[in-house]
Amino acid sequence: MTSQCDGWIRNYVDGSYVEPDASSSFDQVDPATGRVLAKVHEADKALVDRAVTSARRALDNGWADTPVRERTALLRRAADRIEERFEEFVAAEMADTGKPITQARELDVARALTNFRTFADIVAAAGQESFVTDLAGGKQALNYAIRKPLGVVAVIVPWNLPLLLLTWKVAPALACGNSVVVKPSEETPATASLLAEVLEEVGLPAGVYNVVHGFGANSAGEFLTTHPGIDGVTFTGSSATGSHVMKTVAPRVRPVSFELGGKNAAIVFDDVDIDEALTGLTKSVFTNTGQVCLCTERVYVHRSIFDDIAGGLVERAAGLRLGDPTLTATTTGPLISQAHRKKVLDYFEIAEQEGAKVLTGGGIPDLGQDLSGGSWIEPTLWTGLTNKNRVVREEIFGPVAALIPFDTEAEAIALANDTEYGLAASVWTNDLRRGHRVAQKMNVGISWVNTWFTRELRSPFGGMGLSGIGREGGESSLHFYTEPTNVCVQL
Ligand code: NAD
Repeated sequence: MTSQCDGWIRNYVDGSYVEPDASSSFDQVDPATGRVLAKVHEADKALVDRAVTSARRALDNGWADTPVRERTALLRRAADRIEERFEEFVAAEMADTGKPITQARELDVARALTNFRTFADIVAAAGQESFVTDLAGGKQALNYAIRKPLGVVAVIVPWNLPLLLLTWKVAPALACGNSVVVKPSEETPATASLLAEVLEEVGLPAGVYNVVHGFGANSAGEFLTTHPGIDGVTFTGSSATGSHVMKTVAPRVRPVSFELGGKNAAIVFDDVDIDEALTGLTKSVFTNTGQVCLCTERVYVHRSIFDDIAGGLVERAAGLRLGDPTLTATTTGPLISQAHRKKVLDYFEIAEQEGAKVLTGGGIPDLGQDLSGGSWIEPTLWTGLTNKNRVVREEIFGPVAALIPFDTEAEAIALANDTEYGLAASVWTNDLRRGHRVAQKMNVGISWVNTWFTRELRSPFGGMGLSGIGREGGESSLHFYTEPTNVCVQL
């Protein structure tokens, strides 16, 4: 059996695809057309329990003690195999999200490979710390910490970059010797199940990687986070869901790693190369139809160049190509669902009530009959707003930004930091000192200068405030996915 056949996307538990139960299902809908592509088997409580039990058994049967050399070799083979089946992953990612083929190839699937290869390298090269303690009487003690796997890790991921965000967690978790139960978003079930085929092909033992499909509350997500057999939760999604998950795991005091929402600022100083800044800003506002947690939704521009940046961004927005995701010329796909489009359209309405001037967009584009059932939305830019407005404070998660002028560096810093979120910021300037100075002042997990979305996987990633708890990436991933035991030996 494969991940998808007879019109079903299947759960994967204990090394096998589970025969679907027709009484418990939901639809996989193509966001570009609104057509139903497949049925997804919704895992019930018993199936989630089987997945957690099999994950525990896999650890006990030796996965946790498998030499790092073997585990990392397996991850590298998985990357090679994804590369061989590259276009299948691209197709599955597009079916799930409706995103343009070029993005699926160059960002989503390409980064999935890189996640496996990079975390294999990081874990293979990891050392352990040791300290010599001086004791009374001239004696000494040697301390060293060995890292053990955390155990059975619940991996809960969202729909915006489904394969990329899944592998960003699964790769380090497996490299560190954990087993995982993955709960993909109900909107994007395909790639997590397809990945199981690859992991099976490269010889991952049964039970180490499990996939359970479903929703959050009273469904697979909640069954997983409340299961007594999990040893930790790594979660990417909205701040509200993160807060809820935290409460559900609190009674058993399990570690959590939370990568949550953002309301990210860009600061554009008057010394920038305008064209270069516009290219960066266009990417940061509109990539993946604004559905990246790191996307910019607040653009603070020095008053002297405000009109140049606003006019230039409107022109760039007009240059985006919305439409058939299978065409390589398409730059911009739909939103993930009709429900999400409704949320974004509601914010469009709120913006108008709050006195926004719509520079471009603000509605639903007409892309012809074939795409009329999709969740398309126009790239949208506003002026005339301040930090007091809801649309400047709340995460919208669409192709939208408010442009706000500033006069001084101190004012720009204060405006950018005036938020409960703390995920990402970007600073656009040709003044080297100012770039460093302002980037360091941003109260965020990742602060870019003259770039956006440039990722080094060995560096820490995460957010502060409403944007999350903890960091992953490089050493930080090792810290979350392992438990150190310090051994102290008197010499
Ligand atoms: P969401 O919080 O609605 O859902 C995320 C996942 O949690 C889904 O798999 C969902 O089924 C599951 N879930 C929902 N309720 C649950 C519950 N009660 N118990 C257990 N699981 C539950 O988020 P979304 O709409 O899928 O994703 C968009 C959000 O994710 C945005 O806020 C975005 O900023 C954020 N995000 C953050 C990052 C980051 O790295 N910081 C990356 C991508 C997306």
